[in-house]
Amino acid sequence: TEQTATETSATITERPPIAAIATPVGEGGIAVIRVSGKEAIANVNRAFRGADLTEQQSHTVHFGKIVDERDEVVDEVLATLFHSPKSYTGEETVEISCHGGVLVTQAVLETILGLGIQPAEAGEFTQRAFLNGKMELSQAEAVADLIHAKSAKALDSAHQQLEGRLGEHIKQFRQQIIDATAMVELELDFVEEDVEFANKEQLKQLLEELDQEIDSLLATYETGRLVKHGVQTVFMGLPNAGKSTLLNTLVGKDRAIVTDIAGTTRDTIDVDWSYDGLRFILTDTAGLRETEDIVEAEGVKRSQKAFREADLVVYLKDLSHQLTGEEQQDISSLQQDAGETPFVLIGTKKDIARPVDDERIAYDLKISALEGAKIEDLKQLMKQRALENKHYDASSLLVTSSRHRDALQKAREHIRSALQALEQGLTGDFLSIDLRSALKDLGTITGEITTEDILDSIFSRFCIGK
Ligand code: GDP
Repeated sequence: TEQTATETSATITERPPIAAIATPVGEGGIAVIRVSGKEAIANVNRAFRGADLTEQQSHTVHFGKIVDERDEVVDEVLATLFHSPKSYTGEETVEISCHGGVLVTQAVLETILGLGIQPAEAGEFTQRAFLNGKMELSQAEAVADLIHAKSAKALDSAHQQLEGRLGEHIKQFRQQIIDATAMVELELDFVEEDVEFANKEQLKQLLEELDQEIDSLLATYETGRLVKHGVQTVFMGLPNAGKSTLLNTLVGKDRAIVTDIAGTTRDTIDVDWSYDGLRFILTDTAGLRETEDIVEAEGVKRSQKAFREADLVVYLKDLSHQLTGEEQQDISSLQQDAGETPFVLIGTKKDIARPVDDERIAYDLKISALEGAKIEDLKQLMKQRALENKHYDASSLLVTSSRHRDALQKAREHIRSALQALEQGLTGDFLSIDLRSALKDLGTITGEITTEDILDSIFSRFCIGK
């Protein structure tokens, strides 16, 4: 799918004007309609009663009225003007702030569209910003992440990317490869004169360094994924173990239904919960036991799926009941099935625990949701276990996008095969091919090299008006 790799340039192209509501749908004090493109100002001016907008300076705000074709007032507005290239998109832009009602906003937008301006597609403003060199591709993606961020850490991470920190790393990698390629290709020029390989040792060292650096960036992806999408956490245990109660205690509202009839949690319920900057998606399961009941059996199937996809498993054992051999078996086989996935074993209902229990089982923690005992410890434990063996440092750059991970992996492959070629004493042209491929892969992250496919998939994630 390497059809139309294009090197993008930073010259501003003014495309036909587009318009969209840039603020969320709903009632608010104000709403903003963004109009961007060739002669955006002159176009809006046709429906604007107030100062002549075409005669005003960039970055000025003007009070006036938007009127329809019969010259009837649609709304009183403020028009903010941006001359090219000093705007979000790089194009001439007008932002019309109108009153925030759904109908008013819609009416203003329709008036603008009535001037012959096209409605903007999802992400089209940001796409234009990218095409005009106002931002790198990874920064454009960060805008989407910023809008969708659901926890403090995810927001942080998007901000860093927006500042271009990932882009800087990638640029530095590319520069290193360009240097290496130059070494190799210089060597190619002298091949007939039988010059000794351009400094094989130095080249090897450069490539090895690069391999390592890409490696450590890739290692942040697992953490990046958790931070961005949240930790999929599944609560397991026998019916009545106290799963729903704990869930309610954590989230602080009655989201899961608590009853004391065994098997009542028939479906999985997902609840969004943030703790200390990290987002968790908590799933209460129906339990994994065999059942005759069809509805319950469906629940069991979903529980198994949730278990397989979990980033963290929390097993709850009711301390007021004696541990049966069967449950003990269940627990150890679950622990085994969890494999690498962190598994936390919690004793519940500590307040009514039987004095005799558990030489046979090692709890990570014993809690009482009813009395609120050890709940804070549990929260900390969940965060710690979810992120164990993961690079997690509040200030470090994270790779959060699978597209970036794929590109980095491909680049690393090419660098490794260049290293191999070097060790096997293959000629410079083999090396050169590998290095150029690596260069291309890295270029897809920042957008030096883009294909239509990549652009489409990225910008379709945006909402209209961005
Ligand atoms: P689930 O089936 O695992 O979701 O269990 P529930 O959360 O519905 O709890 C089953 C029963 O145990 C309910 O009657 C709860 O009130 C009770 N329960 C839950 N947690 C505690 C606790 O910490 N202490 C005591 N004494 N009872 C609890």
